[in-house]
Amino acid sequence: MTDRIGDKPAPGRLRLVQGFLNSTNTKSGRDDFSSPAELKAWLVEAQLIPSTATVAESDVLQAAAVRDALIRLIESRTDGKIDSNAVDVLNRSTRSAQMCVSFGSEGRVQLEPLAPAVDGALGKLIAIVVDAMSDGTWENLKICRGFDCSWAFYDRSKNHSGAWCDINDCGNVAKARSYRARHAHHN
Ligand SMILES: [Zn+2]
Repeated sequence: MTDRIGDKPAPGRLRLVQGFLNSTNTKSGRDDFSSPAELKAWLVEAQLIPSTATVAESDVLQAAAVRDALIRLIESRTDGKIDSNAVDVLNRSTRSAQMCVSFGSEGRVQLEPLAPAVDGALGKLIAIVVDAMSDGTWENLKICRGFDCSWAFYDRSKNHSGAWCDINDCGNVAKARSYRARHAHHN
């Protein structure tokens, strides 16, 4: 698995979701899940499916749809518009994953998919998102607003106002752009 985390890693299991989101770059069109074999390799390495699981072309489409839906959910924080298609995709996915509530060995309640293979793997990722939504860390997993970026990063800034991943100096590029735009009339 290529480590698509960068220098602003999300805490704990949410890091797995961060890597999942960064398996694509919506702006450049890069996609690490462009075949069943690639998706399988990623999910096996993330220990979300056993190496004996079969992964079909339809799984690739489903994984990409869930990934895009999560990205849109994060982006909707900025414009305040919840994408109903994204919500539908996630709801369909939780149904195919057969999510159930179970009590772990420590007596702690958890969400768990009953479905095997890719359906279950996506359910496990969604369960991490649900946990992150309840402990508040989800709000700090952000999509870089830098031009040509769309990198998922974890915002550790004090007031949680970070908008850029910084790995490609996105913030500086954006500031230079707005500086040029502000000062254009002087030229
Ligand atoms: Zn960026």
